[in-house]
Amino acid sequence: MLPLPGKHRDMKDTPPVSARTRVRVLLPLPLAGAYDYAVPASMALRPGEFVSVPLNHRDMIGVVWDPPAEPEATPVPDRRLRPVSATLPAPPMTESLRRFVDWVAAYTLSPPGAVLRMAMSVPAALEAPTPQAGWILAPPGGNSRPRITPERQRVLDAMRPGEVRAGAPLAEEAKVSLGVLRGMAENGLIRPALLPQRRRFGWPDPAHPGPALAPDQAAAGAALRATVAAGAFGVTLLTGVTGSGKTEVYLDAVAECLRQGRQALVLLPEIALSAQWLDRFRARFGVAPALWHSEVTSRTRRDTWRAVAEGEAPVVVGARSALFLPFPDLGLVVVDEEHETAFKQEDGVVYHARDMAVVRARLNRAACVLVSATPSLESLTNAESGRYAALHLPQRHGGATLPAITMVDLRRDPPERGRFLSPLLATAVTETIGRGEQAMLFLNRRGYAPLTLCRHCGHRMRCPNCTAWLVEHRAQRRLQCHHCGHAEPPPAECPECGTANSLTAVGPGVERVMEEATALWPDARRLVMASDTLPGPAAAAEAARAIQDREVDLIIGTQIVAKGWHFPHLTLVGVVDADLGLAGGDLRAAERTVQLLHQVAGRAGRAEAPGQVLLQSFSPDHPVMRALVSGDLEAFMQEEAAMRRPGHWPPFGRLAALIVSSEEEREADRTARDLGLAAPGGEGVQVLGPAPAPLALLRGRYRRRLLLKTRRDIAVQPILRDWLARVPVPNHVRVQVDVDPVGFL
Ligand code: ADP
Ligand code: ZN
Repeated sequence: MLPLPGKHRDMKDTPPVSARTRVRVLLPLPLAGAYDYAVPASMALRPGEFVSVPLNHRDMIGVVWDPPAEPEATPVPDRRLRPVSATLPAPPMTESLRRFVDWVAAYTLSPPGAVLRMAMSVPAALEAPTPQAGWILAPPGGNSRPRITPERQRVLDAMRPGEVRAGAPLAEEAKVSLGVLRGMAENGLIRPALLPQRRRFGWPDPAHPGPALAPDQAAAGAALRATVAAGAFGVTLLTGVTGSGKTEVYLDAVAECLRQGRQALVLLPEIALSAQWLDRFRARFGVAPALWHSEVTSRTRRDTWRAVAEGEAPVVVGARSALFLPFPDLGLVVVDEEHETAFKQEDGVVYHARDMAVVRARLNRAACVLVSATPSLESLTNAESGRYAALHLPQRHGGATLPAITMVDLRRDPPERGRFLSPLLATAVTETIGRGEQAMLFLNRRGYAPLTLCRHCGHRMRCPNCTAWLVEHRAQRRLQCHHCGHAEPPPAECPECGTANSLTAVGPGVERVMEEATALWPDARRLVMASDTLPGPAAAAEAARAIQDREVDLIIGTQIVAKGWHFPHLTLVGVVDADLGLAGGDLRAAERTVQLLHQVAGRAGRAEAPGQVLLQSFSPDHPVMRALVSGDLEAFMQEEAAMRRPGHWPPFGRLAALIVSSEEEREADRTARDLGLAAPGGEGVQVLGPAPAPLALLRGRYRRRLLLKTRRDIAVQPILRDWLARVPVPNHVRVQVDVDPVGFL
């Protein structure tokens, strides 16, 4: 990582820059840097202030940035500067957030303005909120006694003295028309009044009684509370088997943070699926936290952003973008399921939210807690070297035992022809649901079948825009590309040889497993859980409720079932294709498969009844399968480390990928070759490629990859900057930089 700015300065120590005639303003645009503007005599501007400035022919909101460390060589002359138009009535961006923006930009080689855009994602929150009118009860008195109809009585019953209510919801609650409200106002029963300007967030009560912690939870909780109370930067890796109660432990740290009067941020990988988490938060603190993710409405986003900036939202739970919220005093950052690749943002500014959470915590002198039952090798290595503190919960909470994991060798016990469940697995499901318990079949593949093939000529149905097969979604009667969204109806005859009815589905997706399950267990209540069958948080919450309330016997799901769920009646997990993630040359394929399958397995047997897990595999002796069966993930990770260390693969070395893409294949090739010819070298520095990316065509763009690998003690950013500066890139060719890549497609 880059060196962090050494000395912290507070807003108050920074003199207003109004004495100067010019300020630098960073705009939320992918420009090379901040622009200079003139300061009108009437304005006093400090760094961090939101201002509107003219850009081309319009005004645009930006942030007064800090003066450059060194004066610019050729500044724009004073007389050519345009003046700042106005300041905005919003709390200024804190010094620590400005340094975070600069840091992320430098680390990811992104334009600072592109990072700033993530930190001011709700421009409406910067404007003064417009007051809106509602109704309030009029004080009693006066001589006339207006008539109280049943309708009017319902309105009066719905109102409390002193409380201003918006008209529409009030009318709806009282089941009256808005005209009734107006009539009541004319008769002096209610009066117009201004609504409170923003929704207020409930204040979580740290003293609200939480569950009594088991001894090892209590010890871990005390350690975390101490790091939070210290008010200094520090990272703790909190590990423990699935179901050991890690959440309650870090909620204890959140409580301590609230006692300190500071704000806390909890990052979850899949916030849309967090219904159960929110229930637990409410049970622990009496109120709901502020939520931040892409499906939150724009109005709520505006209120939330503003409340965070004003210190009115003490706890935020969010997806990775919540890292860029304007916390004035962030005291704790928790990253739950820290091993999840969903924390990596792959478009726009390419960053890893887990790593940036550590940076944000450091810049805010906050505690950072990384949580996982299956920690990443990166975090384990940092814990081992002493850079992170480590806490471990060795047992499942409440005496639940870990499920027994066994292999189903598909070479010895294959499914019947055209089926995908071995008789061993099918029998286990029959027994489980026969006992009135729940079973889950896991297959990390959406749709019906991953490949459609012509039986006559062997033609495969491919996406016209991507190097990918089209996935059949039989329910919608569509062949679909999972990369670009291209969809077409399944053709009646082979597009290559013209043979009718020759196209056949190859391999299973969850829909096809469902078909088999329907034939095997026609009376079982079945539910498919996949991102396309559960679009959005409400559908996922409803599915979770149905499972918890035992309205479902058999769950068939993709990776969304692996994440954090607590289903007490689920006792059997069957993994349909345990080998699936091992294909392909990904550096972390083995690590990730162990993590995913261990998490899936961890859904079983979380309450009194013991759990059982069956893994179907063609290579049951693979080290990944052995690790899962033995449960000794530590030994597996040590072997993984031993394999990566000598070659300086992460985390024992650094990687950065360059992805060259163009709609013209030759252009992509030419730029990739030029980059290859200009490749940096020297001791501890190596460039692999250029080579066609595994997704050599994506959304109509041809893609080539280069990989820069350095020793750990060599920073990749200066090398990348120098390298890219030496190679001209034509306009229609894009070179995307991915520092610390987690995907290699
Ligand atoms: P993990 O996050 O480690 O997988 P959880 O935090 O989800 O584990 O805990 C597993 C289950 O045990 C949850 O249902 C949780 O509510 C319950 N639990 C954990 N700690 C306690 C406790 N101290 N008292 C009561 N229930 C607890
Ligand atoms: Zn496609």
